[in-house]
Amino acid sequence: MCEKIINLKKTEYSIALLLSQNGIMSAKELQGKIKVDKATIYRNLKNLIKKGTIREIKNSEGIGFYEISCKIHNPIHPHFECKICKKIYCLEPLKAEDVIALSNYTQNEINEIEIKLKGICNECKKTDTSNI
Ligand SMILES: [Zn+2]
Ligand SMILES: [Zn+2]
Repeated sequence: MCEKIINLKKTEYSIALLLSQNGIMSAKELQGKIKVDKATIYRNLKNLIKKGTIREIKNSEGIGFYEISCKIHNPIHPHFECKICKKIYCLEPLKAEDVIALSNYTQNEINEIEIKLKGICNECKKTDTSNI
């Protein structure tokens, strides 16, 4: 278990636990699992981001998706956004040589790398072809 989850308050802990078990989730998905109101979910998500326990990835419509922010348990990785369902998917973490290659794009100091690929996810592709 990731040490970032220990010592959290009740709802924060429930959110962090769900994210560590299920991977990336939207606030709506979290609300479906934890029986609290929307405002409580958002307040707790905000606190968790502030604490550095989770990170937020927004889709092109500004809807936030949340995942555990831990270098060991969930290293920085690219994301994929589906143009149809707008869902965010986590991709495999970058390899050390990828990070080095990317850092050659700028002379500035890099602290964080955010990569988002866009396209059509396999789920939407499936439903697309079945409609034809
Ligand atoms: Zn999709
Ligand atoms: Zn991710």
